[in-house]
Amino acid sequence: MRHFAVVGSGPAGFYTAEALEKAYGDQARIDIIDRYPVPYGLIRFGVAPDHQSLKAVSKRYDKVAESPAVDFIGNVCIGRDLSVSELLELYDAVILATGAPKDRKLGIPGEDMPGVIGSAEFVGWYNGHPDFADLDPPLNGTHAAVIGNGNVALDCARILSKNRHEFEGSDIVGHALDALDSSAIRTVTILGRRGPHQIAMTPKELGEFGHLEEAVPVVDMADFPPVEADQTLEPGLRKSVSLLRGFAELDANKAKRIVFDFFAKPVAIEGDGKVERIIVERTVLDEKGSARGTGETYDIPASLIVSAIGYSTQPIDDVPFDGGKFVNDTGRIGDRLFAVGWARRGPTGTIGTNRPDGYEVADQVAAEMTPGSSSDRSGAAGLKQLLQSRGIMPTDYDDWRKIEETETGRARPGSPREKFVRVEDWLRTLGR
Ligand code: NAP
Repeated sequence: MRHFAVVGSGPAGFYTAEALEKAYGDQARIDIIDRYPVPYGLIRFGVAPDHQSLKAVSKRYDKVAESPAVDFIGNVCIGRDLSVSELLELYDAVILATGAPKDRKLGIPGEDMPGVIGSAEFVGWYNGHPDFADLDPPLNGTHAAVIGNGNVALDCARILSKNRHEFEGSDIVGHALDALDSSAIRTVTILGRRGPHQIAMTPKELGEFGHLEEAVPVVDMADFPPVEADQTLEPGLRKSVSLLRGFAELDANKAKRIVFDFFAKPVAIEGDGKVERIIVERTVLDEKGSARGTGETYDIPASLIVSAIGYSTQPIDDVPFDGGKFVNDTGRIGDRLFAVGWARRGPTGTIGTNRPDGYEVADQVAAEMTPGSSSDRSGAAGLKQLLQSRGIMPTDYDDWRKIEETETGRARPGSPREKFVRVEDWLRTLGR
């Protein structure tokens, strides 16, 4: 028998557990450990609440969790409740699938001012992440800016622009729905430091902007290269650029505007005690395709700024870290210690990208510890003993099902569930 610990229950953790379960069958016990009492990480806390079809992938993860070889152990934080070295004493291999939950910093003056928030915080707030339940983003001004030209920037701008009716069928949390419903924001400016050909936005996500009830996307055709130049783009990007071009044809007579401002690099954020404006510098592309400032600056009014410029992994004591992710060689960090997903590669790719990633690392584990081989490590039994001695009460998969049932039972009309947003509420549901 072998014992494996997968730390983190998002997509990368579940695909790795699935791959280990396939490789070892009943010759291994796989524990998926998470700091929260509930599983699914990015699926629950990161994927937009109005993208329920993407969230449905958790059904596949349920199948993995229901396998007799796999256990979910929630409410246990590695690095706080116990160390990675302690975990390596108990398990044959430890795979870190902790994602990239921290916002990258902009590194410009004013970014710590009230009203400037990172996308991890904003997305966490509307998705019911307990760390951000009290975020209370300022929605009382008429202008907001979102920095970045990736899909997360699109998520944030879209959520800021939808009305209550457009959230039907979503699992946005009640506090966010109510706050957004009374939001005064009428203009959201999406700032890209480069041009339309350099966006990291995918067609499906961009296409939604053409069908918002109250908001219209606005582009300036002067930002675009001649249409013939689109032929050099790979097909996905070409489609995205063509959708952007199409926005110029839309009827601009709607209550809200989402303005795509390209070649606009944030250089400072200003305001009297709270954010009032963002100063941007016009850029051009240099010969390497990077943004080069021209020296020309202008202000954009904003009482809320969401910075969606990418994420980094949370470091863990004694695990080598390069500032953004764990230092690893094709997933291997050190002896019996591995990383998968965003903790391995950095924050890029779709949910599905994590599948081959997890399988590749599981193959490495299986090559070192052949299925059928065994060790005398104690795995979950030893872990539970250690946790008990520290007064920590883990949750299991049955506990999660109870929480899920309770949440589903509290659903608002038009939403599949009303999520709890506090760890205490999850634990109270379990009678603890
Ligand atoms: P991303 O795709 O890497 O985009 C980050 C954006 O921030 C880029 O446009 C980048 O511009 C810009 N940026 C970085 N540093 C900046 C700075 N200092 N000032 C101004 N702009 C800056 O990251 P993401 O949007 O966080 O998404 C992460 C991953 O999740 C991506 O793979 C994404 O596709 C995926 N995702 C998918 C979905 C979906 O499928 N529905 C939804 C959300 C996220 P440069 O290009 O100039 O560096």
